[in-house]
Amino acid sequence: MQFTVLGSGAGLPSKKSNTQSYILDVIDEINQYILIDAGEALQHQILHTNIKPSKVKNIFITHLHGDHIYGLPGFLSSRAHQGGENLPLTIYGPKGLKEWLTVTFEISGSRLNYPLNIIEVEHNSQIKVESFNISVYLLEHTIDSYLYVFTEEDKKGALNTNKLQEIGIKPGPIYADIKNSSVFEYEGISYNTADFMGPDIKGRKISVHGDTRIVPDSEYLSLVDNSDLIVHEATYLDNENEKAHQYFHSEISDVLNNFRDTRYNHLLLSHLSNRYEEVFLADIEKKLPSNVYLAHDFFQLPIPHRSRGNK
Ligand SMILES: [Zn+2]
Ligand SMILES: [Zn+2]
Repeated sequence: MQFTVLGSGAGLPSKKSNTQSYILDVIDEINQYILIDAGEALQHQILHTNIKPSKVKNIFITHLHGDHIYGLPGFLSSRAHQGGENLPLTIYGPKGLKEWLTVTFEISGSRLNYPLNIIEVEHNSQIKVESFNISVYLLEHTIDSYLYVFTEEDKKGALNTNKLQEIGIKPGPIYADIKNSSVFEYEGISYNTADFMGPDIKGRKISVHGDTRIVPDSEYLSLVDNSDLIVHEATYLDNENEKAHQYFHSEISDVLNNFRDTRYNHLLLSHLSNRYEEVFLADIEKKLPSNVYLAHDFFQLPIPHRSRGNK
């Protein structure tokens, strides 16, 4: 599993940072990419990676501001010609998404040659994509903007083959049979499979926010608690707390402060305004804890399973 930033900027694109798009690479887990938001020039950004559009099977749109969706019609149209023919795609997003896409396709005479399913979400919607459960939470922005929390299901641990050999069972197809049953018998003695299994592999949790001002709500904070990765906006970086609140965006110190009692492995601050000079950003980044990052285009973060006992 890996998280890739395709667009890290806020509002306007610059030569260095595109508008908002992220890829959650779950090729190893469920053989697909999950696209989160689709800023303008998304297609061009993808060309700089080895992401295959045909492998994007689910798209999550946080909100309908242009810097998060203007790349969507182009991406959907091109996907058909990039190996996506007949491969279904589902898009989740706020109310209005379906109407916007329908009108856009109608007026431009675009036709897709694969099934497209558009599902409009609301606060507390629950979504399932293979082994991932996704919770939806309404944030605080000028229009409806959502947080998506992707939680991977726990997996069975590995079979303790040493222990099986100790009771005399030699490796072979029988190991698979044992793993798939709850009890097994060997030489007249019956055993519980659970006694021969390693600990369950804990599923990972990725929390991706749409634009929002700080939400100090405890129900929300417990939803994102214990994330492997939190992605949050920080449109304002320079002691502009009041302005951020007024414009329904967030300021960096407020984000850190709001998460001070929240457990996370990594925190990625994105949606950065391009009015800040690079030197200034580098200076800010130096002062951040080592597991907090400022996003830039093509930033990548592998998200391995956490070993047991980690927070
Ligand atoms: Zn935005
Ligand atoms: Zn916005």
